[in-house]
Amino acid sequence: MHFIDSHAHLNDPAFDNDRDELIASRLPQAGLCASIEIACAPDEWQQAFSLVDKHPGFIGAVLGIHPEYAPKYGPDEAAQLPTLLQDKRTLAVGEIGLDYTCLEIAPKEVQHRVLEQMLTLANQTQKPLVLHVRRDAEDYAAYDDTFSALTHSWNNTSATASPGVLHCFCARYEEAKKALDKGLLLGINGCFTYKKNEYIREAVKKAGADKIILETDCPYLSPQGKRGTRNDPSNIPLIAQFVADYLNIPLETLADLTTQNAKKLYGLP
Ligand SMILES: [Zn+2]
Repeated sequence: MHFIDSHAHLNDPAFDNDRDELIASRLPQAGLCASIEIACAPDEWQQAFSLVDKHPGFIGAVLGIHPEYAPKYGPDEAAQLPTLLQDKRTLAVGEIGLDYTCLEIAPKEVQHRVLEQMLTLANQTQKPLVLHVRRDAEDYAAYDDTFSALTHSWNNTSATASPGVLHCFCARYEEAKKALDKGLLLGINGCFTYKKNEYIREAVKKAGADKIILETDCPYLSPQGKRGTRNDPSNIPLIAQFVADYLNIPLETLADLTTQNAKKLYGLP
């Protein structure tokens, strides 16, 4: 049984004391066969490549601009990113999207402009998308606006078998359905395991186990039972068990489905 963490931030300072040992020994021991590093601020791009070079075949890189950092995407960054995205170590463009919880630091117009630019780059480089969409309370406009941006600016030219993922899925079936209609997968993490999030579990059950991939989003969002501690990709089997139990399918089936989906998304062998 093998697992992939489809969304991790192992270059976060939280891992400064044990990063290489964790990746080289504890993650394989926990059943992980890959962990995808999300570099979503300009100063993280080269660091992600360095991590891939240190752990080839295990770490893959995804490069982009998190909506919160949209104001950091200036002419210098715009001159660099297209070349970095063409590098074979880059598996996807992300995390990109809209986040309506941080509008004071990243105004809506700036987020929208940068998202359009990222979608254009994804089209040009034929890379799949890793989408970050975060709503403000019960207002789901961030999802609607993201889906309409996809409709207008994204040609879905991904060279891999899956065009993208809606990472950290944290919405209703209504939003899940719109994502699935675009061919996107749903990224499932610790949020699925929290007691209050029954609506997420119901939406995922309706979407089906063949439409999901697993992620930690570490060092954040530790699953139920480990909340308050640092999250890392070795928690993927725990999240998987939780999902398998809820969907009433064998853990092995869920591991196979989600690992295959992650491989299809990122074009992994
Ligand atoms: Zn993330």
